[in-house]
Amino acid sequence: MDKPERKPEAPFRSFGDYRWDEVPLLAYKEEGAAPFKAITRQVLFQNPELACEMRYFEVAPGGYSTLERHQHSHGVMILRGAADVLVGSQIRAVKTFDLVHIPPMTWHQFRTTGEEPMGFVCMVNAARDKPQLPTADELEVLKSDPVIAAFLG
Ligand code: MN
Repeated sequence: MDKPERKPEAPFRSFGDYRWDEVPLLAYKEEGAAPFKAITRQVLFQNPELACEMRYFEVAPGGYSTLERHQHSHGVMILRGAADVLVGSQIRAVKTFDLVHIPPMTWHQFRTTGEEPMGFVCMVNAARDKPQLPTADELEVLKSDPVIAAFLG
C-alpha cells in the first residue's frame, strides 16, 4: 500500500497538550470508510527502517473506534482517560498506562467511558492488511453474548 512521502523524523520532537512537534493531526480514517465516532490520529513514527509504526489516537467522550479485525496485530498503551475495550470475547475497563494486545483476526473496539478524552498509543505492522468489518451474521454471533451486545449498544 502506498504511503504519502514523509520527511525523515527528527531525533527529538517535544510533546505538549497531546500533540507532538512536526506531527499533523489527522482524521482517524477516511470519512465513510467504516463506522466510528469522534477520533483523531497522529502518526508518531513511520519510517522505512522500522517494521512497525506508532500512532496516537484520541477519542472524544462518547466516541468509539471501528469494530474490526485483521491479520496484523496491535500493541496499545493507554495514555489518557478511560475506555471499555473489546478484544475477542473479552471486555475490560482500561485506564492510563494499561496495555492492550490485539492478536491477529480478533474483533476489537475501543469505547470511551467518563468525561475525559481517551488517548492511546498504538503500535502496528508497517505492512498490513485492510481491516475487515463484521458481516451481519458475524455481528449476530458476537451479539449472542449479552455482555458484548450491551457493549456494542
Ligand atoms: Mn485495528
